[in-house]
Amino acid sequence: MFDNLSEKLDKALHVLKGHGQITEINVAETLKEVRRALLDADVNFKIAKEFTNKVKEKAMGQDVLTSLQPGQLMVKLVKDELTELMGGDAEGINLSGAPSIILMSGLQGSGKTTFSGKLANYLKTKKTKKPLLVACDVYRPAAIDQLHVVGEQIGVEVFSDRGNNDPVAISKAGIAHAKANGFNVVIIDTAGRLAVDEQMMKEIANIHKAIQPQETLFVVDSMTGQDAVNTAKSFNDILNFDGVILTKLDGDTRGGAAISIKSVVNKPIKFIGTGEKMDAIDVFYPSRMAERILGMGDVVSLVERAQEQFDEEEARKIQKKIAKNKFGFDDFLSQIQQIKKMGSLKDLMGMIPGAGKALKGLDIDDDAFKHIEAIIHSMTPDERSTPAKLNASRKKRIAKGSGTSIQEINQLLKQFDQMSKMMKMMQGGGGKKMMQMMGA
Ligand code: GDP
Repeated sequence: MFDNLSEKLDKALHVLKGHGQITEINVAETLKEVRRALLDADVNFKIAKEFTNKVKEKAMGQDVLTSLQPGQLMVKLVKDELTELMGGDAEGINLSGAPSIILMSGLQGSGKTTFSGKLANYLKTKKTKKPLLVACDVYRPAAIDQLHVVGEQIGVEVFSDRGNNDPVAISKAGIAHAKANGFNVVIIDTAGRLAVDEQMMKEIANIHKAIQPQETLFVVDSMTGQDAVNTAKSFNDILNFDGVILTKLDGDTRGGAAISIKSVVNKPIKFIGTGEKMDAIDVFYPSRMAERILGMGDVVSLVERAQEQFDEEEARKIQKKIAKNKFGFDDFLSQIQQIKKMGSLKDLMGMIPGAGKALKGLDIDDDAFKHIEAIIHSMTPDERSTPAKLNASRKKRIAKGSGTSIQEINQLLKQFDQMSKMMKMMQGGGGKKMMQMMGA
């Protein structure tokens, strides 16, 4: 996510960090580099200029020149300004109606249908709501099919009316269906065009007027940079929407849309899409995003993800096994499976402070665990629970069975051994000692 921008900002601020003496001139130079980094990320020229002017003003006001750690102070000022630019505090969605009606708008291909499914899934699992999806794209039968596929995948009912070509009538019928059948959220997926055109705008405006949604969301592909911002402006002029959904942030986006959109339409980014799967949705927190952009990681989100996937029952079982010295490779395997549920490895690594830079250029693929899993799967149950039994001939057999090498097996055994020791230490009240060892 925003690798390029992160790298350039890091370089820009690094210059300042390295200088023994900070002068007005090198503050100005740093900010010039920051501005260049923003422009390269496809941030609007005016916004980039205002951004650096504001940081400069604050820097001067805060005596960066005499501060003990000018580099750090500058990073903080840039972070605060980025946060402000992207929206300050995170804003939720309005679910006050009975049912709450959520209208999706945006161009074709922006990710509306995918996001409608993600949002329904999110509301169902996180907010214990009962959502209904309504298919209002009357031009492309395939779009209706797509929403049905998505609905089936997440176990959410989809309302559609294939013979009907009036999206206003379909959305009204969908809402009536929701009221009659106990649904408390209605998500209306609408038709998009490849570019803004008058007819499409009229149609979405008509639906908007007829159903008076609690929440109108504008979905935009973050890969489209400045275009995204212009499209947002056109839609906002017509719909006065409530929030923006930025999709495809998992791709190689330069980040300009994420940074500029809020200040152009003055509407918050509410969610981001980070993949094609139904669980690739995240609430947008401007400050966490600013921290990620500046390579400061996002520990809060990382911990939240861990908590979401945390299986208490499983943890208790493992704890017991550690206490009895019975932690084996089967348990190791189940730990790996839990980590995998938290998301892609690259995404997780990006949330660790400083890791982004350290891992730059490294091709972290999500198959990293595959070898480990293959090795463990090639062990007998007995070997899994008592790894000490793994002698040379057994290792040879496992290497052959898993398509790996003896070195890889030895490495895994070493890691396993270290992990077991660490866990025992934590169990035996040694947690504090270990934290001290780690410098905390
Ligand atoms: P719509 O025309 O606006 O309904 O767009 P779709 O929901 O059909 O999405 C268009 C394409 O983008 C599909 O191939 C989706 O799988 C893909 N897509 C949607 N959201 C994301 C995302 O967050 N990340 C990635 N990588 N792909 C996405």
